[in-house]
Amino acid sequence: MNQFKIFEQESFRHGVTTRLGGISNPPYDTMNTSFYGQDDKQHVMTNIKRSLDTLGMTAKTIVATAQVHSTTILSINKAFDFSALRRFDTSHTALDGYDLYIAEKTDGLITNRTDVILMTFYADCVPIILYDPITGTAATVHSGWRGTKNRIGQIAIESMCSQFGARVQAIRAGIGQSAGKCCYEVDFPVIEAFEKNYPKTLLSGAVFPKDYGKYHLDLKWLNSQLLQMNGILPQHIEVNSDCTICGIEKYHSHRRAAGGARGTMSALIQCGL
Ligand SMILES: [Zn+2]
Repeated sequence: MNQFKIFEQESFRHGVTTRLGGISNPPYDTMNTSFYGQDDKQHVMTNIKRSLDTLGMTAKTIVATAQVHSTTILSINKAFDFSALRRFDTSHTALDGYDLYIAEKTDGLITNRTDVILMTFYADCVPIILYDPITGTAATVHSGWRGTKNRIGQIAIESMCSQFGARVQAIRAGIGQSAGKCCYEVDFPVIEAFEKNYPKTLLSGAVFPKDYGKYHLDLKWLNSQLLQMNGILPQHIEVNSDCTICGIEKYHSHRRAAGGARGTMSALIQCGL
């Protein structure tokens, strides 16, 4: 389990799982937290329960994203109607007694509620966790190359401020393990797409041309810059430098699995503890 020091003093619990500490068998070994794939449901629910217990999370309602590389972010406020979401059956598993809801076609979640756990999923894409200690508002965001290009981190900040009264100067941010600039290779059309949404001067710090016609892209740095462009103070941002592609002993990687079966990591947050 990875955690950010920047949130240590906050009344907020959080973590980003690794591939370690679970019970799933290969190729999902061992800490697979995705119940969308072919892995044994009992194993996945036990893995999630272990993660919640490790983090001391006590809420019995979980909202998890079904991600589509969009910029759609769901806000779960005090009046939120959970019956609008699909419920995933956890009976006769380690999560028996929990309400597990799926936010369809959604890539980020925000709440100020203390009775809800939010969950987003990763296997190379960038996890961003945001927390405003003044209003007690937290967000977890899935930012792959499409999400980063379309500035989902900015949209999360704007929603925290406009819908929950957060102040950007107070927001703390953790950027988690993901594909690193050492390994994350893309083709020119991806770079071209970024050039439409980011200043070229900024991109020069994130794009590294290779002599064989490919590019390495530093998504973590770009997300960190995006947060700062939107007013988050540099001293309030913590970045985990680990690369999921070359860190295969500790992390699940979509690229490393060549698109095949693999486990999935998750970011978990709960306010108010
Ligand atoms: Zn790497």
